[in-house]
Amino acid sequence: MEKLIMLGTGHGSVQNSYNTCFLIESKEDKLLVDTGGSIQIITNLKETGYSLNDINHIFISHCHTDHLLGLCWIFKLNCLKHHKIKVYSNKEVYDSIKNLIKSLYPETIQKMIIEDFTFIIVEEDREYDIAGLNITFFDCLAKENSLYGFDLKLENNKSLIFLGDETCNPKLYKRIKNKDYVMHEAFCLDSDNSYPNIVKEHHATVKKVCETLDPLNIKNLILYHTEDSHKNKKELYEKEAKKHFNNNIIVPVDLEEIILR
Ligand SMILES: [Zn+2]
Repeated sequence: MEKLIMLGTGHGSVQNSYNTCFLIESKEDKLLVDTGGSIQIITNLKETGYSLNDINHIFISHCHTDHLLGLCWIFKLNCLKHHKIKVYSNKEVYDSIKNLIKSLYPETIQKMIIEDFTFIIVEEDREYDIAGLNITFFDCLAKENSLYGFDLKLENNKSLIFLGDETCNPKLYKRIKNKDYVMHEAFCLDSDNSYPNIVKEHHATVKKVCETLDPLNIKNLILYHTEDSHKNKKELYEKEAKKHFNNNIIVPVDLEEIILR
């Protein structure tokens, strides 16, 4: 049975938690999805009992700082280990990574990175076998950049959809309808008026996500990429979500494990 290990659940500027990134663990291996924006990626891996040596596959969904910059620390720390890692992404992310390597590291380190890391530009709607996981990437049709999500076929024939960190484009509703697990961002509670502009432009409140997705008969809705001002976030978010969503709601906190039954 696959497991999600949430290394971070916060949005791009959180300070009391880590940016959203997670491991998907299969019987065979693990896929790291996004890396957060700092060296805390290494700390949080350790907290869950893993190290860089356990990571063979990384997928980066898009090239925003809170998803990509943790990879720069992985590059740096891996120079001491020379562990071989495959990095999957779309073309835009790949180009950004290439530029970062060129701009941020001296030539000797650049050589090591090129030797130890293999970069793979994924094709849309093609099935991949990565870390023992059957995974199909797709374009989330984000507003400003190239954001890829994926559809993961689980061992028990159920499925998990990852939608990155923007509100689901209505053109994707067909893709997520009737799915077993859907991972969707929820920036803050509906009653929280601290971030009106950001929420309106790119993100949704818990209530808005739940109201919009409830008719799609998703069995389990996982809400992440949230603000982190509430100590009892799980309780508050679940309470608001349950008023507007009839099936199961999961609001993970950092380092929480979710068994995909
Ligand atoms: Zn983000």
